[in-house]
Amino acid sequence: MRHAPCAMRHALCAMRPKQMSFSFEIIHKSEENHARLGKIRTLHGCVETPAFVPVGTQATVKALTPEELCGLRVQMILANTYHLYLRPGHDVIGRLGGLHRFMHWDRPILTDSGGYQVFSLSRFMEISDRGVAFQSHIDGSRHLLTPEKVVQIQEILGSDIMMCLDECTPYPASHTESQRSLDLSIGWARRCKESRSVQDCSLFGIVQGSMFEDLRAYGVEALTNIGFDGYALGGLSVGEPKELMLSIAGFTLSLLPDSLPKYVMGVGHPEDLLELVSLGADMFDCVIPTRNARNGQLFVRSGTLNICNACYREDEGPVEAGCPCYTCRHYSRAYLRHLFMAKELLAYRLNTIHNIHFFMTFMKETREAIRQGRFALFKRDFYAQRSNLSIDD
Ligand SMILES: [Zn+2]
Repeated sequence: MRHAPCAMRHALCAMRPKQMSFSFEIIHKSEENHARLGKIRTLHGCVETPAFVPVGTQATVKALTPEELCGLRVQMILANTYHLYLRPGHDVIGRLGGLHRFMHWDRPILTDSGGYQVFSLSRFMEISDRGVAFQSHIDGSRHLLTPEKVVQIQEILGSDIMMCLDECTPYPASHTESQRSLDLSIGWARRCKESRSVQDCSLFGIVQGSMFEDLRAYGVEALTNIGFDGYALGGLSVGEPKELMLSIAGFTLSLLPDSLPKYVMGVGHPEDLLELVSLGADMFDCVIPTRNARNGQLFVRSGTLNICNACYREDEGPVEAGCPCYTCRHYSRAYLRHLFMAKELLAYRLNTIHNIHFFMTFMKETREAIRQGRFALFKRDFYAQRSNLSIDD
């Protein structure tokens, strides 16, 4: 018998009925801005929002075990449909009991649709109304992902939150190109909804429309008419100026129904998370904490530090003074720099532990600030810390 990786579950979730399906509840709304505190319930437990969802592309958050993720208070992870479809194959995972059992993770899993990876990774790609044909980046084999297939894969994986197939509109794109892309994504979203066969998990629609307010509004109206369990903002953080990203995100978030989760995909710098929370976003995912950890970039209150810098060669201090994470309690910057320069595997583990701890603590403090009605003050303090201290880059 397999054991659940986490001894502790959220207290409220322990009271939930066994077969309760997806729901979202707003616990508290900020009076200062659009920030809100919420709770997503899934068959695999609850997620307190605003939440940051670490990326576990290949059914693993690189370098960490599920027990370590639980210890770091990770509530939900994102797994990648494109990668798991190609290797080891969703059928294999399905026959082995589903993704939760396969990877020994009993908390919620969100799976993306695979569309973004098809567009960014595959060698050959042909988009049509039917779906997207592509050649695997692993072995060159040819595949066709349709909206129906994407939902079927995610249902076999046993995802708690499934995403519709969409086309991530590149930036910059003309109004005409963006409209064509948006219409394609809307048509695919409708087919995703119609092809569902498992009702216990949830399905989110993804609003595209590039940087055009009229298209974003059109996308929101079309998707809400189809009706989804939550809504994501796609096509952001794709090269546009930050001010434009925040402006379009704020506009789109304001149009989405307040009673459902609002998820901004692929955004992960702490200052962006704070601004998007202020605008009403509930969920985020990004590779930044894990990928940057493996590149030697560590997040601290003042910004980031690059552990390979020579100034840390004999630095006996922790990554961040006062940080209670395992890495900071036991290891100096000098040791972490040594491990990183020597390309030792432990460097990737220790750096990732610190960065995930930083992001989880940051989101927990954000939620507490909203709950206590001092989110605006929390934001001011965050920016003050950034401007007072030096940042490596
Ligand atoms: Zn730390």
